[in-house]
Amino acid sequence: MSSFEYASAPESKSIANIATSYGLFVGGKFVEPKKGKSFNTINPATEKILSKVGYADKLDIDLAVKSARTAFTMVWSKMPAKERGKYLYRIARILQERAREFAVVETLDNGKPIRESRDTDIPLAAAHFFYHAGWSDKLDYAGHGSKPKPVGVVGQIIPWNFPLLMLAWKIAPALAAGNTVVLKPAETTPLTALLFAQVCQQVGLPDGVVNIVTGDGITGAALVNHSDINKIAFTGSTEVGKAIARSISNTKKSATLELGGKAANLVFDDAAIDEAVEGIVNGIFFNQGHVCCAGSRLLVQENVADEVLEKLKKRMSLIRVGDPMDKNTDLGAINSAEQLKRIHEISNTGDAEGASRWSPDCKLPSKGFWYPPTIFTGVSQSHRIARDEIFGPVLSVLTFRTPAEGIEKANNTMYGLSAGVWSDKGSKILWAAKQLKAGVIWSNTFNKFDPASPFGGYKESGWGREGGRHGLAGYLTSQVKESK
Ligand code: ADP
Repeated sequence: MSSFEYASAPESKSIANIATSYGLFVGGKFVEPKKGKSFNTINPATEKILSKVGYADKLDIDLAVKSARTAFTMVWSKMPAKERGKYLYRIARILQERAREFAVVETLDNGKPIRESRDTDIPLAAAHFFYHAGWSDKLDYAGHGSKPKPVGVVGQIIPWNFPLLMLAWKIAPALAAGNTVVLKPAETTPLTALLFAQVCQQVGLPDGVVNIVTGDGITGAALVNHSDINKIAFTGSTEVGKAIARSISNTKKSATLELGGKAANLVFDDAAIDEAVEGIVNGIFFNQGHVCCAGSRLLVQENVADEVLEKLKKRMSLIRVGDPMDKNTDLGAINSAEQLKRIHEISNTGDAEGASRWSPDCKLPSKGFWYPPTIFTGVSQSHRIARDEIFGPVLSVLTFRTPAEGIEKANNTMYGLSAGVWSDKGSKILWAAKQLKAGVIWSNTFNKFDPASPFGGYKESGWGREGGRHGLAGYLTSQVKESK
């Protein structure tokens, strides 16, 4: 029997009211950048312009920081914690009410499948606000000192892979802890942050508690270097994270850095293979592999490698690549021409260094930025594709003979953000988890997120944790420590 074809099931764009241009969100209002500069944001699936957004420079950053400082000293830090919590609840509720609109805008601006923005990004963003709303008036019991205080004004810089979700990871704990923020979204995905600014207005959040400045790396650096920022919270590349660490090294600013990864997904020979294959696919092809904790190195025990690879290829042949707005799409567009170039560049070293490339037959759209789901076999640990973060739908497959060798290979990386372990035996999973140098370890699953669960890395994957009780630590100063 020939394979089934899916009829197209496009989500409607009509719910998304994208304005032709947006200013910066400073002091509770949309304002024009002082120098009147702007840039376009495009739909990476079609290369069509979606909107024009303001470009913030040093002057605009200064205004945004001043507005956050005033809001911090005059309003937010003085407000009873219970009242702060109510604002967070309101934000969470509005995100739920406007979920479909947010999902459509996210997919148009980012290129990710509507199924993922609808089922993962937006619900998790709302969940982060709900979760942190609950913490607002319970900070004394979070284990960070008896009367912990906010750190002050926080500069927050986020990437383009989960635009609204990363915003929620940053803003929800900061506000719950009593800080005010200036947040810079990534240059290719500013729209849901600007929509979020409208939500702040809708819930009547006091002016200046949240400020959103759009721009590029220069804008980000201006925020990092502003003298009245108390803390930087950054998610992005290890390279930029290191630059930020250097620039704040002789200041009193604190930082949390959530950086790159090259996670091992370890499949032992006693694993349930069909389930492991689903986990491998989810681990690397979710969000086009634009995931810092993606399972981008598959480590499979040698005696089951043939079976795993055969099943994996069969499963990959069923991945539907194409229009992100189609509800049947599994793999959407690569977020930008620049990222596509980077994926090509690193993946091509796989061919040059002797690994074998395989992709299923799939027709890629002619417009937009696309990369097929790809695996490399015959990969050795020294290959660049086994070491560098590709941040695309490209999996490097390595094998191991003994569990100890599997662990050794898994830990042979400069990163340490996440790992996956697939085995039928609880004792083996616990044994492996103990030895893996990774901040998050999934067993018999992958890419599961929960606001109550701390997320963060070892080694070059970053400093600090986000989410859970641990994530609050970065936004609080303990009175106990201060009095020493
Ligand atoms: P990615 O590889 O995900 O694009 P980047 O680290 O380049 O990661 O970007 C993540 C965020 O950091 C984006 O919002 C970007 O504009 C910002 N950024 C880039 N360069 C700098 C810099 N030197 N200082 C501060 N922020 C920066």
